[in-house]
Amino acid sequence: MTERLYYDNAYLTEFNATITEITTHNDQAALVLDQTYFYPSSGGQPHDTGTIDNIKVLDVVVRDEDAAILHILESTPTPFAENQHVAAVIDWQRRFDHMQQHTGQHILTQAFIQTADAKTVSFHLSPESVTIDLDASGLTENQLQAAEALANEVIQSNKTVTAVIRQADEQDGVRMRKLPKHMVTDGLRVLEIEGFDKTACGGTHVGRTGEIGLLKIIKTEKRGDKTRLEFRCGGRALSDYGDKHRVISEMTADMNCRFPEVPELVNKLRDELKTTQATLKELREQLVEYEAARLLNEAKTNNGFTLITASFDGRDTGELRLLASRLTEGENVVALLGTAGEKAHLIFSRSANLGQNMGALLKEAVGQLGGRGGGQPAFAQGGGVTATVGQVQAVIDQAATRL
Ligand SMILES: [Zn+2]
Repeated sequence: MTERLYYDNAYLTEFNATITEITTHNDQAALVLDQTYFYPSSGGQPHDTGTIDNIKVLDVVVRDEDAAILHILESTPTPFAENQHVAAVIDWQRRFDHMQQHTGQHILTQAFIQTADAKTVSFHLSPESVTIDLDASGLTENQLQAAEALANEVIQSNKTVTAVIRQADEQDGVRMRKLPKHMVTDGLRVLEIEGFDKTACGGTHVGRTGEIGLLKIIKTEKRGDKTRLEFRCGGRALSDYGDKHRVISEMTADMNCRFPEVPELVNKLRDELKTTQATLKELREQLVEYEAARLLNEAKTNNGFTLITASFDGRDTGELRLLASRLTEGENVVALLGTAGEKAHLIFSRSANLGQNMGALLKEAVGQLGGRGGGQPAFAQGGGVTATVGQVQAVIDQAATRL
């Protein structure tokens, strides 16, 4: 079985090894080495990446049958031979990020046990997010703050983090969890954060808690009887702070205020917008009243009814509906209206005392544009296709001849 050197030293990123097997994994070339510092995906922590003799290692997995570590290579077929000596390099930036997030997770998990009696039931780490699920659903803001404060206290007190393989159980104060098979053969690997936490774990960790730098909970989400917490440690916390600082700086410059005033100012703007929208709606309605009066005034009456046809460009369909109903609320009026644009729309309406069928008339007109629609004998609408003002006016004029 591959000797797992990362157990002893998570900081060593360059090593030599001998190829013991060349195989494939999901049709990609894979190497088994006699010893490795590459961490394979397991226990919620993703694998390392790096190179073997300058060929990229894309993935590292544990083979189910014999727990061998497979180093999946970028190039297939591989130029390697069995028993060949190779030089490997691990991507330190990715490794150290995993060490920070993962050790931070151990601390946060223990912090929630101590401050809220909440246990971690799962852990997830990916390039985009780090989360834990707690077996508690009603965590208060105070509990969250207390756990975060305790975690940061442990980080700042720069405690040692050590791992030893030994016989251990829960009586020993060691937090147990579901472990990969290869970890339970000759004793358990117990990770100890000086005077704070003991957990069975096979991952890579920082040597002192101070290297985590900072831990910040950024999101909580209730999931049934559990709570999912998203948090960031170290470099990720710093870049999150940078992103948020940039956004808030732009907002405060824009709004000419200090950052604690932003929520109040946003609320004020929202209220002002609501009032302005209400006023605008009222004014639009008044304008439509005038428009309807003008159109009725200018229209001519033939065969016992007044016909009004009009087409617009990109006009709000709600406003068009309002215009149609204002025009036809009195007696003896037929209004054939339309608006052009990406979603052209036709509205045909008539006074209640008349008999023409607007539904049938509209269906035909909108069909000529390639759209769909229909309605009642007195009111119909439809459209949904792109059309110019000229096209809209043409189908309206044609419909008018069929009245
Ligand atoms: Zn761990």
